[in-house]
Amino acid sequence: MKIVMLGAPGAGKGTQAKKIAAKYGVPHISTGDILRSNVKEETPLGLKAKAYMDGGELVPDSLVLDLVIDRLAKDDAKTGYVLDGFPRTIPQAEALTEGLSKTGDKIEFAIDVNVPDENIVERMSGRRYCAKCGATPHVKYAPTKVEGVCDVCGGELTIRDDDKPETVLKRLKVYHDQTQPLIDFYEKQGVMHTVDGTKDIEEVFSDISNILEK
Ligand code: ADP
Ligand code: ADP
Ligand code: ZN
Repeated sequence: MKIVMLGAPGAGKGTQAKKIAAKYGVPHISTGDILRSNVKEETPLGLKAKAYMDGGELVPDSLVLDLVIDRLAKDDAKTGYVLDGFPRTIPQAEALTEGLSKTGDKIEFAIDVNVPDENIVERMSGRRYCAKCGATPHVKYAPTKVEGVCDVCGGELTIRDDDKPETVLKRLKVYHDQTQPLIDFYEKQGVMHTVDGTKDIEEVFSDISNILEK
């Protein structure tokens, strides 16, 4: 099962990708999480990526492609995966299609979690982040048992630097300019599906499960 999650920042891609991974036994691969851990560890990649991420810009394709190629080559990705936050540009999508075609493979499902811009800023202002395990609870829509503490791993919850409203607006613009065209790209491959991301988390997941099990 090879799946790509599309949708604006804060639409719920990561939330749904984690649920897909748990239910269908495929790894959840988030380029945002991989990049953030590189920034935290101050690796050469992290040092290059940090300024772009803080400014709400995309990290250059060349940097992201290398990390995805490495990750997809690992054993656990042989039978499938759910890609979250990648591809984000047409060149990234083309590189993925080409890389997969070498082994006769292709993306089987592209799922757009559709949420209008008006809802995004509110969603993002309540998002919390666990740097230890990548969990993304929400103060209103997915609250943790103890405020500030991750339910999954007990880690400390933080607010991502790039979730402040000015940066969210910048990221939304980048999404419309560079990532939304991928909906057309995957339409043409005949694998595009859209779900209404304004529904509650379990309803969205049930809609996605129906698509994957059809
Ligand atoms: P969100 O989940 O809110 O959409 P991500 O965690 O996916 O955000 O990404 C955070 C930041 O990491 C992006 O704003 C961008 O700077 C960088 N990033 C993540 N994935 C990619 C990618 N595929 N290409 C370029 N930059 C990326
Ligand atoms: P993305 O990966 O697309 O950037 P996330 O999965 O991190 O988005 O979700 C953004 C925030 O919104 C998180 O705090 C998450 O708990 C919350 N969230 C996710 N899906 C929903 C939903 N369907 N309704 C309300 N809040 C949601
Ligand atoms: Zn955690």
